[in-house]
Amino acid sequence: METDLLTEYQNRAGSVIARNKSVLDILSKQQCAGARVERSVVKAVTACGCIGIEGCKNPPRTGTTQLEGSLCEDCENMIMTEMGELIFYLASLCNALDIRLEDVIRRDMNRCDMLGPYSLR
Ligand SMILES: [Zn+2]
Repeated sequence: METDLLTEYQNRAGSVIARNKSVLDILSKQQCAGARVERSVVKAVTACGCIGIEGCKNPPRTGTTQLEGSLCEDCENMIMTEMGELIFYLASLCNALDIRLEDVIRRDMNRCDMLGPYSLR
């Protein structure tokens, strides 16, 4: 993990956020951004069709993504843009709460290492 990149990104998010510095605005914008990520994935299935979803019982621990196909360039770009917005508001929330994004990621990496598949995610 590139520590400098995360810190630089968090600092940049803090410097460009102008209209939504209120934690209430950040929380609501983050929720909207999450919904837009989900919508862009759904649109890749329903509007473009480059990927499909095969909904079936997914056995635990050996589960699959239940995706078929692969993202076309347009859908990948759209999803990445929406994910960027989501990360922007997460970094902004970190700034508002005086939390380092890097610490959040490092802490969760440790949790993944410690719990492995037992994290039940
Ligand atoms: Zn597509």
